[in-house]
Amino acid sequence: MPLLELKNVHSAYGNVRALKGISLHVEAGEIVTLLGANGAGKSTTLRSISGLTPVSDGDILFEGKSLKRVKAEHIVRQGIAHVPEGRRIFAGLTVKENIMIGTSGRGHLPRRQMDAEVEEMFEIFPDLKRLTGALGWSLSGGQQQMLAVARGLMSRPKLLLLDEPSLGLAPIIVQQLFATIRNIRSHGTTVLLVEQNANMALSVADRGYVLATGNLIVEGTPVQLQDNEEVKAAYLGGG
Ligand code: ATP
Repeated sequence: MPLLELKNVHSAYGNVRALKGISLHVEAGEIVTLLGANGAGKSTTLRSISGLTPVSDGDILFEGKSLKRVKAEHIVRQGIAHVPEGRRIFAGLTVKENIMIGTSGRGHLPRRQMDAEVEEMFEIFPDLKRLTGALGWSLSGGQQQMLAVARGLMSRPKLLLLDEPSLGLAPIIVQQLFATIRNIRSHGTTVLLVEQNANMALSVADRGYVLATGNLIVEGTPVQLQDNEEVKAAYLGGG
């Protein structure tokens, strides 16, 4: 059974049909990337999975169970964390406080456990460790992105949904971030990654899908996608 399965998912914003029948699957332990141009429906796909945008037709199964009428906060508790585009960390809170907020759906954690889990995040994100007392607003874009991912991981997700984590970051920081994504997977978390940076995403992914205006047009391994003429022309900087 796949960890996550979308079956013919439709979703709309009023009259705008954002998803017109998306079917895909993510197996436990995979990094799967969802590529496509602006407005193709990538963010809406993630929002449908995490319960932020309603599914009008079709179904989404997580560990074989339907998420269709499940509220967003219960979806988090079932093990899906969504790190949305644009980071949205708390500017007036410290790095440590921002990280701790990620546990809010898990009830009260004893102080020692909380500290141990924050320490684990510092192992994955060493840059954040020396910034533990710094306020959110003072961080660079890359640091904020790392913090947003760390906060997502504190819900102890089985599946991490990442929306355009590389947006606006310098190339060297993007490389660090993608190395971290690999590291997160090696700790047992499955990743569904939305990216505009197709080459970078395909360098870490096991498989990928390409979306165009609400439909999936191609699925394959990174090599298959990199060799696909349509994909090359549209998303990989020429053929
Ligand atoms: P981007 O990279 O720009 O975020 P995307 O592939 O993630 O693109 P979506 O954000 O999922 O695309 O948008 C899919 C479609 O739904 C687009 O036509 C978009 O204009 C529309 N859309 C997205 N959000 C809303 C909204 N809140 N209200 C109305 N239409 C929306």
